Amino acid sequence: MNGGQSLGEFERIATYFAPLAGPEALGLSDDCALMRPRPGFEIVLTTDTMVGGVHFFHDDPADLIARKLIRVNLSDLAAMGAIPRGYLLASSWRRDTTDAWIAAFAEGLRQDQAAFSVALFGGDTTSTDGPVTLTLTAIGEVEQGKALRRSTARPGDSLWVTGCIGDAGLGLRLRKGDALHASDRDRAYLLERHRLPTPRIEIGRALIGRASAAIDVSDGLLADIGHICETSGLGARIEAAAIPLSDPARRLVQAREAEIAALASAGDDYEICFSLPPSATPSDIPATRIGVLTDGTGVALIDPTGREVAVKHRGFRHF
Ligand SMILES: [Mg+2]
Repeated sequence: MNGGQSLGEFERIATYFAPLAGPEALGLSDDCALMRPRPGFEIVLTTDTMVGGVHFFHDDPADLIARKLIRVNLSDLAAMGAIPRGYLLASSWRRDTTDAWIAAFAEGLRQDQAAFSVALFGGDTTSTDGPVTLTLTAIGEVEQGKALRRSTARPGDSLWVTGCIGDAGLGLRLRKGDALHASDRDRAYLLERHRLPTPRIEIGRALIGRASAAIDVSDGLLADIGHICETSGLGARIEAAAIPLSDPARRLVQAREAEIAALASAGDDYEICFSLPPSATPSDIPATRIGVLTDGTGVALIDPTGREVAVKHRGFRHF
């Protein structure tokens, strides 16, 4: 953690971040970390930034912000079938950020380091007059040549998704104060699904050598299927009724196609969408078949009568 900090910032690093460092970090005493991948593996890298007021609310608990930051990055590693190893963290704290906030943030990192077997490899801290800005670079490894890709799907392959879709989008709407008629219990479930996604690391590992393509659902199911289609040069037909919804989500949207389309366009699910050769089934993987990849272009959402469902916004647009 280098570069022109005040003594206070060095003390913060020593107090809160040094205990999180793995052996690769060399005690945070050198300019870089050193990581040796296992023989036969290659390194997989990904980075994501979260900005206060954009990706999280300023009054979100600091430990949950930290855990979501780790998890969204690990989700990208999971989608490529990688084993997480560690991460670099670049953080710009507001000048009025308290030690208590940073202590809670570091505690969130510690919890998820333990949960996902990763360690801090290094990073940088600065202060800013703007919003808190957190960039985490996750580092993993995967068997050489075996990483799951978006671009390798084939026409006729079936499309599958893990878990349930739309919970996080509904959780975000609740968090923003939308008047949804949800019970207290459903509300708590949906809010939690938005605040703390679960990266599907074991599923990504299980898909190696089996899935023809994979992506994690971060921008919205339909948008992310669109990424597989664009890079693979294919189209997709998705059955709206097949999109897996949790019981709390189903109670809110009552399986109306327009609302399913909205859930399939909301982001932050962090499930894995993957394709399989036509005759294959992922019998040991908790996933739902939602459609098929076709020759052609575009992602069509189909209702039970075979009609295409109009989709207003196909996912989170970054700009
Ligand atoms: Mg991703």
